[in-house]
Amino acid sequence: PFSDAHGTITRFIAMGYDITDRKRYELELKVAARLDKLTGLPNRALLHDRLQQAIARSGRVPGYQFALMFLDFDRFKIINDSLGHEVGDLMLKEIAARLKASLRTNDSISRDIDGSTVARIGGDEFVIILDSISGPEGAAVVAQRLLDVFHDPYQLAGHEVRSTASIGVVMSDAKYSKADDMVRDADTAMYEAKARGKACFVMFDKTMQEAVQNQLQTEIDMRIALATGQFRLAYQPIVTLEDGQLCGVESLVRWQHPTRGLIPPDQFIHIAEETRMILPLSQWILEESCRQFMQWKKQAPDRAPQYISVNLSRIQLTEPDLVERVLAVITAAGMRPDELQLEVTETEIMQNRVVATRALKQLKAHSIRLAMDDFGTGYSSLSCLYEFPFDVLKIDRTFIANLGRGREFVALAHSVVTLAGHMGMTCVAEGIETDDQIAILQSMDCICGQGYRFGRPMDADDLIAGLWRRQTVKHVA
Ligand code: C2E
Ligand code: CA
Ligand code: CA
Repeated sequence: PFSDAHGTITRFIAMGYDITDRKRYELELKVAARLDKLTGLPNRALLHDRLQQAIARSGRVPGYQFALMFLDFDRFKIINDSLGHEVGDLMLKEIAARLKASLRTNDSISRDIDGSTVARIGGDEFVIILDSISGPEGAAVVAQRLLDVFHDPYQLAGHEVRSTASIGVVMSDAKYSKADDMVRDADTAMYEAKARGKACFVMFDKTMQEAVQNQLQTEIDMRIALATGQFRLAYQPIVTLEDGQLCGVESLVRWQHPTRGLIPPDQFIHIAEETRMILPLSQWILEESCRQFMQWKKQAPDRAPQYISVNLSRIQLTEPDLVERVLAVITAAGMRPDELQLEVTETEIMQNRVVATRALKQLKAHSIRLAMDDFGTGYSSLSCLYEFPFDVLKIDRTFIANLGRGREFVALAHSVVTLAGHMGMTCVAEGIETDDQIAILQSMDCICGQGYRFGRPMDADDLIAGLWRRQTVKHVA
């Protein structure tokens, strides 16, 4: 301002500039910070706000209900690792597109919520706020529709990729006041969906929270168990059916729990897998098995088994350093590679076919023996056999248990034994409990057997003392 001698303002010079550009730019920056760069969907922060608003609204507006869905895409990590991040990115964009196309969504940054929100909160994790639904049935209908939408394969840069969704659903409820609590429960339900075999949706309920609590406790217990040596191995003989000679030994883990007593593997392996405690546990199992094997050889060279057979978990199969680790353990133990056999099930392989195949071929290239475990219980038995370099086929014990049920069952087992023979694999019949079963299997020229009839899983000392031999029978039939 210009003023005269009395201080009165006589003139102004006005200067102005248009701030709308800057405002818009600032707003865009703000918006961008709340959108996921890859898919353009709301990110975790924006989801959080929207969810908090929806929670507030459900407390305010009688009858207003919404559902929160947590989606995770089965095998995404493997697709990403094996086909590359570009393909992974394409897949995430496609997922976003399919979600938008199947829901009435509100992508705008505006504060008023109308329609559902689809957000990507990390990796392959997508969260949906399903607005104004009639109740759990309404949410179930949408969840089912989404499962169908994700059933179709993806065409990504020349690859056809399949990846179904696992969905956890939680309904709005007066007990929720915090967005994070609701997301946590939807996540819990999603894990349950995965545990129930994937490609399904699960509605959250309170018992799941308790199960999670139990699992946490077991995980803590397991860490202690590993550190204080509560795990131990039992060994079950694998014999030739012809003359009952010991050929190999399978090592089977047990947990000697200080208060719960002896826990069988079926009760803790899956928890160990879910928590990835299986990795240090399996490392110990492998080291201990090899150590014990070498001790038998030293103790009784003429009676020691020719190989030790160790079960691999599906989690180990996808670890990039599996082969190195295995080789390191046998080298440290001073074992030949063909004295170690690793058992895998077809289901484990099929869950991660690409990665598992690579690992198995590498193990085979190093002369480690491979056995297909529980054969006949999985879903793609035959294709598996042609593709993978197995030395041994272990026929699942359900086939053996059925042998007494009629000729069809005998024929079925026979065809598996014959098939194994044609493909150059040694057959091991699992779960042999009776002399009749031995006789039938001998008549099929099944080479080896394992089961309570020969010996239960037992201590290392009992095994080498040949205690199991008392039970062997010679050539019936
Ligand atoms: P699997 O690999 O099929 O192991 C054979 C199971 O059948 C063992 O149960 C064994 O005790 C049982 N069995 C052996 N002979 C007979 C028989 O004549 N009749 C009957 N009814 N059962 C028989 P176990 O030791 O309870 O192991 C159960 C499963 O737990 C194993 O099935 C395997 O999948 C898993 N597991 C055991 N040890 C390990 C391990 O060290 N690592 C991993 N990853 N999994 C393991
Ligand atoms: Ca096994
Ligand atoms: Ca088995």
